[in-house]
Amino acid sequence: MDAMTQAVILEERYCARNYAPLPVVLARGQGAYLWDTQGRRYVDMMSAYSAASHGHAHPRILAVLAAQARRLAVPSRAYYNDQLGPFLKDLCTVSGLDAALPMNTGAEAVETAIKAARRWAYRVKRVARDQAEIVVASGNFHGRTTTIVGFSSEADYRDDFGPFTPGFRSVPFGDLAAMERAIGPNTAAILVEPVQGEAGIVVPPRGWLTGLRRICDARGVLLILDEVQSGLGRTGAWFAFEHDDIRPDGLILGKALGGGVLPVSAFVGRRDVMDVFTPGSHGSTFGGNPLAAAVGREALAIIRDEGLVERSRDLGAHALARLRAIDSPALKEIRGRGLWIGVEFDPRVASARLVCERLLARGVLSKETHGTVVRLAPPLIIARDDLDWALDQFAAVVAELSPRRRPAAA
Ligand SMILES: *Cc1c(COP(=O)(O)O)cnc(C)c1O
Repeated sequence: MDAMTQAVILEERYCARNYAPLPVVLARGQGAYLWDTQGRRYVDMMSAYSAASHGHAHPRILAVLAAQARRLAVPSRAYYNDQLGPFLKDLCTVSGLDAALPMNTGAEAVETAIKAARRWAYRVKRVARDQAEIVVASGNFHGRTTTIVGFSSEADYRDDFGPFTPGFRSVPFGDLAAMERAIGPNTAAILVEPVQGEAGIVVPPRGWLTGLRRICDARGVLLILDEVQSGLGRTGAWFAFEHDDIRPDGLILGKALGGGVLPVSAFVGRRDVMDVFTPGSHGSTFGGNPLAAAVGREALAIIRDEGLVERSRDLGAHALARLRAIDSPALKEIRGRGLWIGVEFDPRVASARLVCERLLARGVLSKETHGTVVRLAPPLIIARDDLDWALDQFAAVVAELSPRRRPAAA
């Protein structure tokens, strides 16, 4: 039996069926390339949902990872360590916020934000005990804990995982008037993604974030943005909130913060929001460990040193223009910001899954979301030639699926 078949059989036999992987077994990665067990090379147009924004096996990340692992990895936050302070200082500097609480996965940082918002409501805003509300947007994706899936609008994420945590209210994404109506005296925070990733790279109407900022200021409500996927250069800005020239009160980061090698996340915020945490009120065994802090700090430095924000902006605009030039009845909508593009297919012509399988056969790795959207989100370090090659393959797949009508016979 070959290595590929063996790997699939073992995973199917021993792993829970909570994913439906495409039929490829990956064994190695370098930059924007991935290789399968047969040695076949693919261009990564997915980058692990932004976790691999720096590309795979970035040499500077690997050097810091190895050096710090030898020095000190996980001593516990029962003690100070020499890596955490410098990391969080850099994180606050790039985000323009005051302080941070380090965690590991994105969902944990979202949970941290929820705790911060509730405590802030009780201790600063003086909301009555256990009455605090958080307003979210339908179509959201904030992770997989029971509290978080409880305010998801996606049946797949929720079904039979209840009972759910109360205290959340959901309004349509991008609808300012609905948001305004949902806010009451007990509202602690608005928690939204500035661009909805898992929903299919849904970009809100112009002015929506600015409007949310205005509402929050007027009503004494925290604006908390989940930039786990959109942050750190993905949209062609350090943070998606910069496109609207606002600043949130709380910011949730993850994915790319781990430089493609570790789960590193953080809740970053205004001083008075972070100050609601007192010793013993929240924690994580691994959060803020020196290995994660050293890697996170290097991940930020690389984004700056290699101009990844500008690359995302310029290559993203190039990719969007190329995709929009494809004339095909299979394509319903193409949307995106920076190197983060969702192509919505007409389900009567092709499922997004089929498109991803065809792309795979041509050496391009992508991932469908919600049945109809193909996500194109390569590592931000991708070479322009590789991006163009992957887009050529995409155009070829679209042409195969929806051959343009032959010119009428003369
Ligand atoms: C991926 C994601 C999360 C959850 O991150 P995990 O590391 O998988 O827990 C939260 N919010 C957004 C916007 C995400 O894209």
